[in-house]
Amino acid sequence: MNAPLTNMQTRDVEALLHPYTNAAQHRQVGAHIIAEGKGIHVYDERGREFIEGMSGLWCAGLGFGDEELADAAAAQLRKLPYYHLFAGRSHEPAIELAEMIKDLAPGMARVIFQSSGSEANDSQVKLAWFYNNARGRPEKKKIISRRKGYHGVTVAAASMTGLPYNHLDWDLPIDRFLHAGTPHHWREAEAGESEADFSARLAHELEEMIEREGPETVAAFIAEPIMGAGGVIVPPEGYFEAIRPVLDKHDVLMIADEVITGFARTGEWFGSDRFNVRPTSMSMAKQLTGGYAPLSAVAINQDMAEVIEAHTGEIGTLGHGFTYGGHPVGCATGVAALRIYKERRILDHVRSVEGVFQAKLRSYLDHPLVGEARGVGLIGALELAPDASGQTAFEPGGKVGAKLSAELAERGVILRNVGDSLAFCPPMIITEAEIEALFAPLEDALNVTESWAK
Ligand code: PLP
Repeated sequence: MNAPLTNMQTRDVEALLHPYTNAAQHRQVGAHIIAEGKGIHVYDERGREFIEGMSGLWCAGLGFGDEELADAAAAQLRKLPYYHLFAGRSHEPAIELAEMIKDLAPGMARVIFQSSGSEANDSQVKLAWFYNNARGRPEKKKIISRRKGYHGVTVAAASMTGLPYNHLDWDLPIDRFLHAGTPHHWREAEAGESEADFSARLAHELEEMIEREGPETVAAFIAEPIMGAGGVIVPPEGYFEAIRPVLDKHDVLMIADEVITGFARTGEWFGSDRFNVRPTSMSMAKQLTGGYAPLSAVAINQDMAEVIEAHTGEIGTLGHGFTYGGHPVGCATGVAALRIYKERRILDHVRSVEGVFQAKLRSYLDHPLVGEARGVGLIGALELAPDASGQTAFEPGGKVGAKLSAELAERGVILRNVGDSLAFCPPMIITEAEIEALFAPLEDALNVTESWAK
């Protein structure tokens, strides 16, 4: 029996359709309504305290209730609450933030702003098409992403996303979008295949796909340095080093989707730095503002910038842009977030607690429910499986993960299961003592879930 819904829960059910939610079930159990946040904690409408082990949706890297970020947003709201970047108009927060992004992202020459990660990736597709039209290659339009990759939910972004729920009954993916293999060594490698050999095989399979399609038809390859919503999948050794020459050989753009991995999360400014991705363009969002305002950015390299600039001269304009792309409040919040990352030495902090956090994760490998523990920096996952072989999975997938996540919430910790992987992405301000507290209820929650699963 579920508890009767509170007044607020009833209003929620009658007024909202929730993303990534089973609406029929939601009507029975009601929403978990979060009212406030401070540091790594959030508080629900009943006043219960939770450690937010996912930074919301992988975005609140500076935690909740940061006065400096709130002040920066409020000051901008008072000074210039809205302006745009269309038709040659500009404003200082956008200029300053674009400069700061260029400083952090070597090789990137220009920045174009949107409001969400999906819009950033949608813009990536359009810019790749525009770029190839400008270069007189109108056939070169196909986009290759990877199974289990997550790039968002607009028609183009969801077409790149490689997860079944984003395609099932949405009539997706649309034409011109292809999916290559998942770089998950534990699950996908052949018996005895080393990480380096597995990487070489994936690069070879990618090349076969490009050749089968015809290199003159393939515009870009998009990848998250670490797959986030696909289950926090860390690439095997040598993966991007093996992929990149294939792309170069066939004149295929390398888009790094840094929406989760950007801004210190992996112990480097970008996941591309950590995994030697060497992108031609990058998508950023989430920690770009610490999640305090909706903002995303696409950064492109000098070659793309020059070709696109020249082409707008020929045809008359860049026919693309969003009303809220580069919103001054978002940009001012982004400037403050990037300044805080530097002034509070967040990158050094992530590096200093990485060892403790990653060792903690791996300490659960002994538990019978845990098949794999993986991660870098302050992001990671425990994959639940009947055994540690990488060959077995719970059927139907996702139920055991959801049970564990619910048990943890009962014990004051919010962690999200993506299928049967339990993802961790705590605010990057987390201390060693708070890491202890984050993991404290896990053993008990795992044991209860194990008994339930039998
Ligand atoms: N790309 C990645 C890697 C993401 O993780 C996400 C969201 O989780 C997106 C893109 C889409 O971002 P948004 O939800 O802001 O549209």
